Amino acid sequence: QLVSRDYKKTDTIIDLGDQIKIGGNHLTVIAGPCSVESQEQMMTSAAFVKAAGGQLLRGGAYKPRTSPYSFQGLEEEGLIYLRQAADRYGLKVITEVMDIEHVSEMTPYTDVFQIGARNMQNFKLLEAVGKTQKPVALKRGMAATVTDLLNAAEYIAAQGNLQIILIERGIRTFETATRNTLDLNAVPVLKELTHLPIIVDPSHGIGIRKHVPAMAKAGIAAGAHGVMIEAHPEPTLALSDGEQSLTPEMLQKLVPTLRRIHEIL
Ligand code: PEP
Ligand code: MN
Repeated sequence: QLVSRDYKKTDTIIDLGDQIKIGGNHLTVIAGPCSVESQEQMMTSAAFVKAAGGQLLRGGAYKPRTSPYSFQGLEEEGLIYLRQAADRYGLKVITEVMDIEHVSEMTPYTDVFQIGARNMQNFKLLEAVGKTQKPVALKRGMAATVTDLLNAAEYIAAQGNLQIILIERGIRTFETATRNTLDLNAVPVLKELTHLPIIVDPSHGIGIRKHVPAMAKAGIAAGAHGVMIEAHPEPTLALSDGEQSLTPEMLQKLVPTLRRIHEIL
């Protein structure tokens, strides 16, 4: 397996340019809204993500919503707002690609292709991003084992693209007190099995705004190379995932604590 530690002993470090690296001893903070909603929302978001100490700006332009009647994203218009906002504030872009047909048109707008949990085993999509030279962030499927996740990553690697980031975003369990169960066990287990960087997404992992900081801190303490956090200028007005999105103030307070935890490991 190309993604295994047996195949490659040293940690893979993904270099996004401008001193922004993911993996190894680097601590990466990805933050931004669930969905791109407007130009103003993305400019405001980029400003507070940068001020908080983030490196990458997130925001979905194509949204995999559970209901077909929920907001589906601004599509290409959203990609333009995301890119402009990130460039203005010196951030890199991560956004979800849902369809093979969008891979090439999205290429100039994003620095990292995000594969959503619902597409973790969309093997044709994995092969399509595997044929590009762009980093891919693969989110664990909500009913996927660690082995399933690594096999999905192997589909990307087998096409020649080894710039893969794994994201633990919570799995479905019998527990209903939280949106998902953030499987932090996966972090040390994955670090032993693979050389790829591992990011924790506490937002989808727990789904409750006030509890997101605790799980972000726990993710770094478990050894993750970074976090991906949903944050919105006005979470109560968000078009998706507002109930789990941090306010700018919460993000600002959290990031320095994550850096302190990372330093003592
Ligand atoms: C997201 O990051 O907003 C998202 C849709 O996540 P997931 O694919 O993990 O549900
Ligand atoms: Mn979301």
